[in-house]
Parts: sequence; structure tokens; C-alpha cells
Amino acid sequence: MLLQTRGVTQRFGGLVAVDDVDFTVEARSVVSLIGPNGAGKSTFFNTVAGFLTPAAGSITFDGEEIAGLPQHKIVKAGIARTFQNIRLFGQMTALENVMVGTYCRTHSGIVRSVLRLPARREEQWVLRRGRELLDLCEVPGGAAERLASHLSYGHQRRLEIARALATEPRLLMLDEPTAGMNPRETADFIEFLRKLRDELELAVVLIEHDMNLVMTVSERITVLDRGRKLAEGSPAEIRSDERVIEAYLGRRHNDA
Ligand code: ADP
Ligand code: MG
Repeated sequence: MLLQTRGVTQRFGGLVAVDDVDFTVEARSVVSLIGPNGAGKSTFFNTVAGFLTPAAGSITFDGEEIAGLPQHKIVKAGIARTFQNIRLFGQMTALENVMVGTYCRTHSGIVRSVLRLPARREEQWVLRRGRELLDLCEVPGGAAERLASHLSYGHQRRLEIARALATEPRLLMLDEPTAGMNPRETADFIEFLRKLRDELELAVVLIEHDMNLVMTVSERITVLDRGRKLAEGSPAEIRSDERVIEAYLGRRHNDA
């Protein structure tokens, strides 16, 4: 088990946004977190990733307790995430955005000591790694030198993932990565997720509303509703769960 939460709870004043959630992710697997808007999915991500300190509960990553650690320590432990609303440095180029992610490793001296690189060589390594990650995430060749804010929406989404990968995570948490993508981009995204799992050997947690994508790519699905875990299981189990249909799946056609 790579990630394991027990009783994770998050409050905003009187509102219990995440209520006593147990959640597990195995290494090299894709797990989805689904549920209606306001269910607490993003808040759960923010809590695991160290943007919020849990009001209660335990979060272990690779056997170590990480609940309440500052964000940068959680990144160093090997958890990277993207945001529901894209957060790139719009006035930096695509390549520079990715390099920001890489520096979380180089500044710690890890890359330098492993590769025994002097500072200038390290800079070259960071540039090369940045280009590799842009390729891997299929941000087109010419885009590396363009300002992030000038890229298409789909490419900005992929750039954000490239920047997350630059921190060399073992667990990648993606908050609604296909929101705003066209059907073609969403279909391609299924293959991309498989590549992350099978070639990069990553575990991926996905918050996602596209049920075709969720059902196709997930090994396990957890359903949140009003902060609580409503159900958990394989795609087939979730698809036929009456409570999930009532609380979420059956209402999907009424969504915007
Ligand atoms: P989801 O991602 O499942 O749509 P969120 O985690 O964004 O849900 O929100 C869960 C609940 O917590 C909602 O009622 C939301 O309004 C509330 N909430 C989220 N973030 C904050 C915040 N920073 N302060 C106060 N309330 C918040
Ligand atoms: Mg959300």
C-alpha cells in the first residue's frame, strides 16, 4: 500500500467537508475519486497534499506518517498534484514551468549527488529533463519556449502534469484533468494515464467526472458524498451500486 488514510476529517467552520475517510492506493495503480460537486474531493486532495492540515486522522505514504507535514516535504516524499483550476506561471515559458518542478529535487542536492554533477552540468540536466517531460506529456515541440498562458487549454493541462512529474513523484494526484478537454483529448488521456502507470510505474489518483474515462482506466473507485465515503469498489461494482446511482450516477444527465 503506497498511500493509506484513516479517519481523515477536514472542517471549515461548522462544515465537515471531509468526514472520517479511509482511502488506500496501491503502488502502480489508478484509483478514482468521484462524487457530486461539493462532496469534498478537492478538499481531500488538499489535505493529503499538505495544503490543509487534517482536523483528524492519519495519512501514511510508503509507511511514513505525513499528516500535517508542510507541502514541500510531502512533495519530497513523492506526492505531486495538479489543480482543479490550472495554476501555471503564465508569464513563464512552458519549459520554465517544468523546470520549477525539477528544482525541488536539484536544490535538495539529490540530483547533484546521484549524478555527481557540478552546478553548470546540473543546469543542463534540468533543461534536458524538462524537454523530456514536455515530450512525454505530449506538449508539442514548438510550445516549450512559448508563454504558458499562450498555450491551448488542453496543452496547459498537460503542462501542469509535466511540472508535477518534474518533482519525480511516485503518486500523482490529478484534480479533474479532463475538465474543458474536447472528446478527442479526453480519449487520448486514457492512453496517457496508462502510460504513467505502466511505463513510469506511478500510482495515480484521479478526481474525474467523465464516467467513460473513470470506468475504463480505474482499478478501484471511491465515491464521496457530503464528505463521507459512500462506496468503494471495482468499476463494475460502482456502476451497479444503488446508492451511487441515487447520489451521483443517476443524476449525471442533469449536470451542466
Ligand atoms: P468537490 O471537489 O468534491 O466538488 P470541495 O472539496 O471543493 O468539493 O468542497 C467540499 C465542501 O467544502 C463544499 O461545501 C465547499 O463549499 C467547502 N469548501 C471547500 N473549500 C473551502 C474553503 N477553503 N473554505 C470554506 N469552505 C470550503
Ligand atoms: Mg473539486
